[in-house]
Amino acid sequence: MSIRHTALVLSFTCLFAAVGPRAEERVDGEAGWAIRREATERSRVLQTLHMLTDVHGPRLTGSPQLKAAGEWAASQLTAWGLANAGLEPWSFGHPGWTNERVAGFIVAPVQDSLTCEAVAWTPGTNGAVAGTVVQVVPPDRPTDEEMAAWLASVTGHAKGRMVLIGEGTPAPVSFNPVAQRREDADVRAQYDPVNPAPSPFAQPPAPAAQEGPKRLDANEVSRRVDEWLVSEGALVRINDGGRAHGQIRAFNNRTFDVSKAVPTVVVRNEDFGRISRLVGGGREVTLEFTIVNRTHPEGATSYNVVAEIPGSDRADEIVMLGGHLDSWHAATGATDNAIGVAVMMEAVRTIQAAGLRPRRTIRIALWGGEEQGLLGSKAYVEQHFGTFESPKPDFAKLVAYFNIDAGTGRARGASVFGPPEAAAALRAALAPFEDLGVLGTAATRSRRLGGSDHTSFNQAGLPGVGLGQDPIEYGTHTWHTNLDTYERIVPADAVKSAIAIAAAVYHVATRDEALPRFTKDTMPAPPAPEGQTPAPVRPVAAGR
Ligand SMILES: [Zn+2]
Repeated sequence: MSIRHTALVLSFTCLFAAVGPRAEERVDGEAGWAIRREATERSRVLQTLHMLTDVHGPRLTGSPQLKAAGEWAASQLTAWGLANAGLEPWSFGHPGWTNERVAGFIVAPVQDSLTCEAVAWTPGTNGAVAGTVVQVVPPDRPTDEEMAAWLASVTGHAKGRMVLIGEGTPAPVSFNPVAQRREDADVRAQYDPVNPAPSPFAQPPAPAAQEGPKRLDANEVSRRVDEWLVSEGALVRINDGGRAHGQIRAFNNRTFDVSKAVPTVVVRNEDFGRISRLVGGGREVTLEFTIVNRTHPEGATSYNVVAEIPGSDRADEIVMLGGHLDSWHAATGATDNAIGVAVMMEAVRTIQAAGLRPRRTIRIALWGGEEQGLLGSKAYVEQHFGTFESPKPDFAKLVAYFNIDAGTGRARGASVFGPPEAAAALRAALAPFEDLGVLGTAATRSRRLGGSDHTSFNQAGLPGVGLGQDPIEYGTHTWHTNLDTYERIVPADAVKSAIAIAAAVYHVATRDEALPRFTKDTMPAPPAPEGQTPAPVRPVAAGR
């Protein structure tokens, strides 16, 4: 147990001694039952999911589909009776990009189709292109000099070729069964009010800086490989999917500039392995690709969707809830994060349809740009609230922001950025929903960015609430993969999440006092400016 941990336990114990347990938090049981009835008997989760995935997916940031999905969501929220629905622009600064078709084949020495996805913000092929394969293996974390020496050694090898990048790592057969649900005891331990266990999805601490010469990270190596392929006129760059059972995660050319890369695909691990073994056996292998990609200059402006249930006597105070609307492009982004959006839309629909009238304004926000680094929510927080250290007038008016973004699994608990009293109030609000699987609330002091959009609020010193969920198939199958589709949703879980979240949001919007917050004396220090901490951008299963 760390020293900080001990202090936290003591202050919490003192609180109980001083004011008695906050279990006396009055929770409106009637409202809870009205929400349950509405959400269970007239659920709209699947219709929403269908619109966001089948009709408007994928929803890559800057793409026309994301904007259309946002416009649909705003009009649907209006139709459900919400006020002030609309799209709020923010500057993405890059063109939008869409993939219309990608098809790949081995044409010699055998004939077969390949399973592949295009990498975002790379160019198309301008018709079918065919060429022979060359495989190159860039060095791992080289120094600048080592990278230059390697590039010199491969110069002249890429022109007019299909270039396999890397050795390819066969994804091993797994003999371990995968947990779909979390054990109740583990969930209770994670959300223990006195001594919470670390989240199983917590990021490991960043490795200590290594001594010796400065080394290039994988992103910089990849950028220099792109530069080399463009300069030589390679036909197609081919990356290894690296995952079992045909799963492909295709992300983006990090420059967001199609002129800085050749047409690029990720092929499934099984195809990469086959081509690699054929080439390794001394055979000449010919591949053919047809890739049609488009860029959309208007995508440089992207959008967050907002809508409100106006409050009554405390209407100027705001309780927010939301999730990101954007997705990656290899599938329709059902578990990441159309289902989260469907759950939050269902939560406000249910509150509205049940005829509940919150005292504070409830505002739903559906973010863009999450997958490129929480861009939409960061822009929103900056524009509307500022930070604890440099607040805008509305900084004091935001009571809480609830976020969901970890797949189809039902909500199991919540972590709130705030003092233990904030967690206690939320725990009481969620207590009537233990039968749905929600087992607790813990307080966090972390202002570190990463995971999902609630951390944009936490970083600013605002009370973000992150929902924890059952894993189902998220980390193992659907998260960011080409398998992230409508079929992977567990509708009953989404209904349960919507009920618990609606009730908690309504409670926070209606209780006498705003949720307790950190004060000047207790507010954790802001994280060091970017560049000074090696904060990892990619989280484990908790978001993105
Ligand atoms: Zn996500």
